[in-house]
Amino acid sequence: NGDAPVTVIGLGAMGAAMAEAFLKDGRPTTVWNRTAAKADPLVDKGAQRASTPAEALAAGELVVISQLDYPAMYDTFAGAEAALDGKVLVNLSSGTPQELREAAGWAAGHGARLVTGGIMVPPPGIGTPDSYVFYSGPEPALDTHRKTLETLGAVTYVGADPGLAMLYYQAMLMMFWSTLTSYFHAVALVGSAGATAEDLRPFAARLYGQLTGDGPMGFLPILTREIDAREYPGEQNSLHMQAVGAAHVVEAFRDAGLHTGMPGALRDLFAQADAAGHGAEGLTSVIEVIRDPQA
Ligand code: NDP
Repeated sequence: NGDAPVTVIGLGAMGAAMAEAFLKDGRPTTVWNRTAAKADPLVDKGAQRASTPAEALAAGELVVISQLDYPAMYDTFAGAEAALDGKVLVNLSSGTPQELREAAGWAAGHGARLVTGGIMVPPPGIGTPDSYVFYSGPEPALDTHRKTLETLGAVTYVGADPGLAMLYYQAMLMMFWSTLTSYFHAVALVGSAGATAEDLRPFAARLYGQLTGDGPMGFLPILTREIDAREYPGEQNSLHMQAVGAAHVVEAFRDAGLHTGMPGALRDLFAQADAAGHGAEGLTSVIEVIRDPQA
């Protein structure tokens, strides 16, 4: 279906980049946005302007949605629900997994199939080799439009539960935000004594490189095996020792007059796992507290 039509609803930074990618691939592209003027540059590049959401739905089976959130989709199609019948809605907006599951039921109630998705690149990354998108929901609907959707990035299907795409997306965001924010904290800490970010960067790069490697410092593969085996050896570096160290980190931030929220959250998590009896195990044992915070 290399030249199958596609509709893009929502022309913010992301939706506009997606519409542009479809146009660049030569696909017949219909666009609609609440603030109509945002369609102008795309119309100049060959997009069809839909004057209403119902008109946008009528342009073809595949409707890609990129809006602020899921309520925006309900606002958009309010009064145009009859036009949803037979459509494949691919919503790549942010939401909670539960919102996505409810939206799948809403779409089915109007005769449409909802494929949910989470885009793993910023707008300039759309259509580049680094781009990939998590999808969940009805796989046959995704397969029908796979070729068109590959224009945006690699199609990565994670399962039938409509909430799964957002679960994966949010899991990735959790790692992305916490890793980068911890780097900001680290820079601020050495910065409190006059060091620059550039002074710290080589050590940060070394750590991040080591984390994913296969060597003795390749923490990601090692900890993954521990988690799946539910065995957290701590003879060489016990959680208790690290809980004490984490409290020192918080004090270092406080002494330097810096924000202590994030280091404090780590200290509290480690202390809770220590108090729950994991002190002689390794750091990975904190997953037990993350999974069962009341235990
Ligand atoms: P923008 O803020 O640039 O655009 C938001 C879009 O949502 C606009 O088209 C806006 O319309 C529309 N919108 C908001 N509320 C409503 C409503 N009630 N009814 C109709 N339309 C509405 O956001 P982005 O384009 O950056 O992001 C879009 C989605 O993509 C978000 O869910 C975001 O989480 C996700 N995403 C974004 C990434 C990024 O780096 N930008 C990366 C990965 C995912 P209007 O123009 O009229 O205001």
